[in-house]
Amino acid sequence: MNSPSHLAVLGATGSVGKSTLDVARLHPDRIRTVALAGWRNTDRLLAISREFSPAGVCVADEKATLFRSQVLGAGLNCRVLSGPTGLIELVQSEQVDTVVAGIAGAAGLSSTLAAVQAGKRVLIANKEPLVMCGELLRAEARAAKAVILPVDSEHNAVFQCLPEAHQTNLSRGDLGAVPTSDQSPISRITLTASGGPFIRTPAPDLKSVTIKEALAHPNWQMGPKITVDSATLMNKGLELIEACVFFDLPESQIDVVIHPQSVIHSLVHYVDGSVLAQMASPDMRIPLAHALAFPGRIRSGAPTLNLIEVSRLDFEEPDVARFPCLRLAREAARIGKGMPAVLNAANEVAVEAFLSGRLRFVDIPVLVEAVMERSDCPVINGLDDALGVDQNARHLAVEALKMRSVR
Ligand code: MG
Repeated sequence: MNSPSHLAVLGATGSVGKSTLDVARLHPDRIRTVALAGWRNTDRLLAISREFSPAGVCVADEKATLFRSQVLGAGLNCRVLSGPTGLIELVQSEQVDTVVAGIAGAAGLSSTLAAVQAGKRVLIANKEPLVMCGELLRAEARAAKAVILPVDSEHNAVFQCLPEAHQTNLSRGDLGAVPTSDQSPISRITLTASGGPFIRTPAPDLKSVTIKEALAHPNWQMGPKITVDSATLMNKGLELIEACVFFDLPESQIDVVIHPQSVIHSLVHYVDGSVLAQMASPDMRIPLAHALAFPGRIRSGAPTLNLIEVSRLDFEEPDVARFPCLRLAREAARIGKGMPAVLNAANEVAVEAFLSGRLRFVDIPVLVEAVMERSDCPVINGLDDALGVDQNARHLAVEALKMRSVR
């Protein structure tokens, strides 16, 4: 048997964290959970700390005193760290060899980069690192001999359908060893999208979409930000950018198709006309189990796909007139440099405004486009550049939001 991996779960109280711990629970001999990071949900963090007895736990700065007393009260022997510096210390720990990066936002970016720079095996479940500074991440992975593996279900699906040599090289950030487009056996990639709850909603009705309606995703259980992104198709747009960066393909070689059943998670088209697809129940435990065990396989605890129950697989073209976020993401991918980071930051501000009732659903892409038009986008050479572009775009988005009439 392989020696056990020693896991740090960042975002342990969120949906990715929950799925990771579900898989870890099935394999106590193979996966040791040695570090956990939550942020504000200290009750949940305490409960999983009791169960997994990690050596280190990280919480938000303002929760550190409370959590230390909870840990003492529970008689746990674990070190309590806090804030962004605590997160970085946690992933750099010598006890940790594998990091599941499931924290959204800028905190997710710095800690993921720190894990890569520390030469860990990094399972990337959040989108920011690849969208905001994918090339930097790859360069750091090569330098530190880190391994990066995609956990986002579509990218994990594409990864599973690639030739073994590609998988090894990509996971080491080593694009030099990946054949260039004229020699590559791969002609295209197709990312699938469920289409979200409004796939059949006529354009005029999108103007009155409520928060509750946007949060009712038909297939996946996820946090509120990504669920709204799925409803606007921005999630697929961000995934398109992630795929360009991770698989080193221009956006013109990546298609998006609506596939309402969410059974095929993505496909790789080969030059001979063969198309390989990865199929599975829509359950995050499956890509997580794949990345945790790669290049082996372990049980995930997810139900096996029942083809008779699925019965049919449908595909259709996405409607970018009703869902302009996908068009904006393609533009950002084409422009490159800092534009994907601008798109991401503007979208975060817009989604937050929608979720707090300050912006209509249909105005999310309007706000993002306005910020993209007003942004110059410098090349991103380091974490500070990425965070600077992110901050500027957020500022522009907040200003644009003030100018808009709200409902
Ligand atoms: Mg996804």
